[in-house]
Amino acid sequence: MDPFEGRSYDPASLHKYNYAANNPVNITDPGGQFFSFSSVMITIAIIAVLATIAFVSLPYLFAHKDNIYLDFSEMKMTQYDPTFIQNQTVAMVTADYMPYKVTVTTTQPGSSYKHLHIGGTSWWWGEDTFGFAYWNNGYVYTDHMVAYGVSLGASQNDVATAIGNTASHEAGHSFTLGHDSTAHIMQQGWKTDDRTWSDDSKKKLEKVLGLK
Ligand SMILES: [Zn+2]
Repeated sequence: MDPFEGRSYDPASLHKYNYAANNPVNITDPGGQFFSFSSVMITIAIIAVLATIAFVSLPYLFAHKDNIYLDFSEMKMTQYDPTFIQNQTVAMVTADYMPYKVTVTTTQPGSSYKHLHIGGTSWWWGEDTFGFAYWNNGYVYTDHMVAYGVSLGASQNDVATAIGNTASHEAGHSFTLGHDSTAHIMQQGWKTDDRTWSDDSKKKLEKVLGLK
């Protein structure tokens, strides 16, 4: 089995000028009244508005989708200190995505973001599912991870590390990353031995995020 996440869920008027060109009277009109001053000003105004919209909204949209929203509202933890687990998870995901200018937040950042639900129990793939992600959503099932950690006699720090790893891993899927074959964040496992990005994952993240 793949205890880290079960299975990844990879479920995807020129017409006006033609008229003028066909009419030599207008083209040779010395007063140039055919293209009135006001229509030129309106055209300039429209271009200015479009340029402003492009300048303001495009970077905003691109920056916005690069947020990761770590949503702990479904986490009900009794075996370990939930504040410790949450702080560790936020710190790990932040450190993993900081090089890619991705902002990690625990409050809903707006209308477009990667939404990672952290807490609760898998509702679709059975008891060995630790998380899964698709498109803009991901789930990290802390109930399963805690139960597995307890069965191994894992420390609170180990469980927090495993949850933080899973959160970065599932967020990677939401940025379209696939699995790595060897130890890295996009590898599958209870705890990855190597908490770094593989070269393949780095390249893909940079491409997806428009950094290169
Ligand atoms: Zn995975």
